[in-house]
Amino acid sequence: MSIEQNLKKIKSTLPEVVTLVAVSKTKPNPDLIEAYNAGQRIFGENKIQEMVEKWVSLPKDIEWHMIGHVQRNKVKYMAEFVSLVHGVDSFRLLKEIDKQAKKYDRVIRCLLQMHIAEEATKFGLNESELHEIIKSEEFSTLKNIKIVGLMGMATFTEDHIQVQREFKQLKSIYIALKDKNKDLNVLSMGMSGDYQIAIEEGSNMVRIGSSIFGARNRH
Ligand SMILES: *Cc1c(COP(=O)(O)O)cnc(C)c1O
Repeated sequence: MSIEQNLKKIKSTLPEVVTLVAVSKTKPNPDLIEAYNAGQRIFGENKIQEMVEKWVSLPKDIEWHMIGHVQRNKVKYMAEFVSLVHGVDSFRLLKEIDKQAKKYDRVIRCLLQMHIAEEATKFGLNESELHEIIKSEEFSTLKNIKIVGLMGMATFTEDHIQVQREFKQLKSIYIALKDKNKDLNVLSMGMSGDYQIAIEEGSNMVRIGSSIFGARNRH
C-alpha cells in the first residue's frame, strides 16, 4: 500500500480527539511530501539534525515534533521552529529549552516523558521526579516553555495486558496532574504496534511511523 493509503486507513480508525504524529525519522523527503500531499501536517523526528534538514527543505506549514531523546547541546538548532518536544526528562533540559526559546521570543510546548515500561533502557521520569520538577520554584520562573502534557512508551511486548497496564498507569498520572494544572491537554502514547490499546486507555496523541511509511532500516 502507498503512504497515502496507509495514512487514510489509519486516520479512518482514529477518534476525532486523537492527533496523529506521522513519525518520519530516517525517511527521505519524497516520502514526507507524499504524506503532506495527503493532508498530513504533523511530523515527528527523533534526531535534531535530521529534523532541521527536513524543516529547511519542506513546506513551512509543517508542525515538527521532536519525539526522541534530546541532547541539551542541540536544543539551539530546533528552538526556532519546533512545535512540540515530547521527550523532556530532566529539569536541566527544560531550562535549556527555555533559554533557547527566549532567543526567538517563543514559548515552546513540551511534554514530560514518563518511564512506564519495564525495560531499563527507555528514558523517562518516575512520578517523584515529575513532581520534583513541577513543584520546584525555579520551574515557575521558566516563561519560554509550557508543559502541555505527558508522553510515554510501553514495553515492547506481545503481552497486551502489560501494555494496557502501563498505559493505564500513565493515564492516571496524567489525570492527577491535569487536576492541578488545567493547561495540560496532551497525552502522547501509542505507536504502530500499540496505538489501538493506547487510544482505548485514553491517549489523544499517537506517534505512528512504520505503519505509515513502512519499516525502517535504522532506528
Ligand atoms: C520511532 C518512534 C515512534 C514510531 O514507531 P513505529 O513503531 O514506527 O510507529 C514513536 N515514538 C517514538 C518515541 C519513536 O522513537
